[in-house]
Amino acid sequence: MSYLVLARKYRPQTFEQVVKQEHVTRTLANAISSDRVAHAILFSGPRGTGKTTVARILAKAMNCKEGPTPTPCNECRSCKEITAGSASDVFEIDGASNNGVDQIRELRENVRYMPAHSPHKIYIIDEVHMLSIAAFNALLKTLEEPPAHVMFLFATTEPHKIPITILSRCQRHDLRRISIESVAEHMAFLCSQEGIEIARESLDLIAREADGSMRDALSLLDQVMSCTEGSITQAQALDILGIIDRKILFDISASIFQGDIPDILDIFDTIYDHGHNIKELYSDLIEHFRNLLVVKMGKKLDKLVDVPAHEIRLMADQVRDVSEIHLSQLLDILFKEESFIRLSSQPKLALEMAFIRMFQTKPVLPIDALIEKLDLLKKGMGEHPANVHPPEPVAPTEIRRPATGYSKEPPTPVKTRDRESGPAPQKPESERDTHDETDPEIPLDRPAPLKPESEKDAVAGQREPEVPPEMPFNPSDSPDKIWEKLLSVVMEKYPLLGVTLKKGTLKSLTEQRLEIEISGNGFNVNRIGKNEALLKQICHDFFRKEMEVLIKVGEMQSNDREQRKNERERVRQEALAHDMTRAAVEIFGGRVVEVKILR
Ligand SMILES: [Zn+2]
Repeated sequence: MSYLVLARKYRPQTFEQVVKQEHVTRTLANAISSDRVAHAILFSGPRGTGKTTVARILAKAMNCKEGPTPTPCNECRSCKEITAGSASDVFEIDGASNNGVDQIRELRENVRYMPAHSPHKIYIIDEVHMLSIAAFNALLKTLEEPPAHVMFLFATTEPHKIPITILSRCQRHDLRRISIESVAEHMAFLCSQEGIEIARESLDLIAREADGSMRDALSLLDQVMSCTEGSITQAQALDILGIIDRKILFDISASIFQGDIPDILDIFDTIYDHGHNIKELYSDLIEHFRNLLVVKMGKKLDKLVDVPAHEIRLMADQVRDVSEIHLSQLLDILFKEESFIRLSSQPKLALEMAFIRMFQTKPVLPIDALIEKLDLLKKGMGEHPANVHPPEPVAPTEIRRPATGYSKEPPTPVKTRDRESGPAPQKPESERDTHDETDPEIPLDRPAPLKPESEKDAVAGQREPEVPPEMPFNPSDSPDKIWEKLLSVVMEKYPLLGVTLKKGTLKSLTEQRLEIEISGNGFNVNRIGKNEALLKQICHDFFRKEMEVLIKVGEMQSNDREQRKNERERVRQEALAHDMTRAAVEIFGGRVVEVKILR
């Protein structure tokens, strides 16, 4: 019995017969026609894509009686010998088992002798990346200046492992992975030649399993053919190959989109009972959902989605009413759960959990739908001008409140006017009195907008020449910033005092007066009190003038906090009751999770 496996029986014997590598075969044919064939050629590409086959055809083309010709006759002695693998002038060397320097030295010796009866002596080295470095080095010299009658044809799946010195001396041709569709098509052709009936679906399945390798696909086809007689059904193919029907993937995705989780669990059960590998199923599912997403995006499908055309149509049907965002959400979950399933001792359980999570993921609204709804909301508000008014008190209150919460500026308008009307060099006493009394009430209704400017101007007019350029702060800075600067100066010179001072807060800062509130225990207040003179001196040095330093104990604090709390609650309630909030809740069918009061 001499059964010849399909891969050998149908090995391409001419460049035209090579499947889907036209970019290489055409270049080689052209090179042969114009007599520009390189003496060292490297074929790289995934396994089973035709590297050695192309090398053999090239050898034939060079040594054919008719040649060199792009279409070897396959009739002459040389062609026949090469087809049979017994050519005396074509040496096929397996790089993996002949990787030592000795073998290469031997080869170098042989290179010098003329071919027996062909024009060229051709060395085909398969898996050339397996050669040792010493072997590569031994080869280098010969590659550089080979005798005219010698050709080297290398094949490799891993060109990056080949030294650059070798690569640079070779002409390189990269063979591509063959698409599932092309592999299946080629197999369909072979089956028709062999008179075997097999569903295209099954061929797709085999091609997918072979992952772009024609040789693997033909071996699998051999396997299926040897196990059955006559026509081959899809069920037989699935059974023999021990793989999961692709239809199941579609069933699973359909159930997810329809929200039918019991159905999915049922499918998993069946798969599990059949003894299929759950982890393999999971990686198929990731690929399946990735393909669904790409199909939904709808660009370059033939290039990006390596599935048969009828499956692409099926996918397009499935995702028609599913949003792109929802698909990427699902894919996201699949990726996140991947390691759990891979490492789990109970992969089926982990798989079920992942899908329950996917099922629970509610599709988010796409951004354009959101914008549409916002437009609707805006329009709705515009139509009812009465509704627009209420928000105004809310927002400004929110903004105003914190700005005046610390009365960094002298709080009463009276004082301001006083200062503006005259230079007021000796105001401190009166200021202190009014301030202490009015402080808690004033901030909320007195925004005190442009005052700092007018103050600055007035002072600048008087004191401009006195302000030395090396002032430790910028007078136009905010009081908070100046306070920070002052703190850093104190920290540097008097760390202990600085630490205590840091526990306080700046209550107000004017041209003549600095008011600090010290909160916390009496110890802090005491320490500051003891160092009052020192603090005054520091301030004098810092501000370059006499400053009144007023230290307040945080006695009003709890009262103050209560008041702020009440105010926040009032703003919160106002925001919740606001028409805009209500309309938004209604339109989006949501609920208010949190009210954030912005500064
Ligand atoms: Zn020939």
